Amino acid sequence: MAGQGRIGWHISGETVIRIYGTADDSIVDGPGIRFALFVQGCRRRCPGCHNPGSQSLTGGQLVSAEALLAQVRANPLLAGVTLSGGEPFDQAAALLPFAERLRAELPHLNVWAYSGYLYEELACEAPSPAARSLLELVDVLVDGPFKDDLRSLELPWRGSDNQRLIDVPASLVAGEAVAYGHSVQNKN
Ligand code: SF4
Repeated sequence: MAGQGRIGWHISGETVIRIYGTADDSIVDGPGIRFALFVQGCRRRCPGCHNPGSQSLTGGQLVSAEALLAQVRANPLLAGVTLSGGEPFDQAAALLPFAERLRAELPHLNVWAYSGYLYEELACEAPSPAARSLLELVDVLVDGPFKDDLRSLELPWRGSDNQRLIDVPASLVAGEAVAYGHSVQNKN
């Protein structure tokens, strides 16, 4: 039975994630074949949102970290996992158990995240402690809200020109946003 606890939703004691959907073999949400997890819920209401059905805070379905990890394990061709939405960092407490186990159990997979937050907001003024912890588990952050007037089909892995590809580990070391570059590409 599901109920809302202090840090999120729970089913039989396990924290669960409210999701809009998943893609088992996405090739558009980062490099290589990826498991893409689209969380449910985003307050930004960007005009031209690529996933308007993911905006409702009450829609979607509740799934456990274990169920999602089973989907990831089932595809040996995956290069990585992408957290998208909706807004992943507004569900950081629920996503953390999934992301922590993903890192521990499947360390060969890289992790990308799409967020309407800027890197600086997540690193320095995180909306929750869990959001900062989740950031630390991400390799590449595609940051900033989608802007319809800056939309472009020419931008790899981005919807609009304001969005940045951030190398998160390098950025955390440098203390400022570092553009995603060859160091992460070589890892894929
Ligand atoms: S941040 Fe993303 S999911 Fe949220 S409204 Fe904007 S485009 Fe849609």
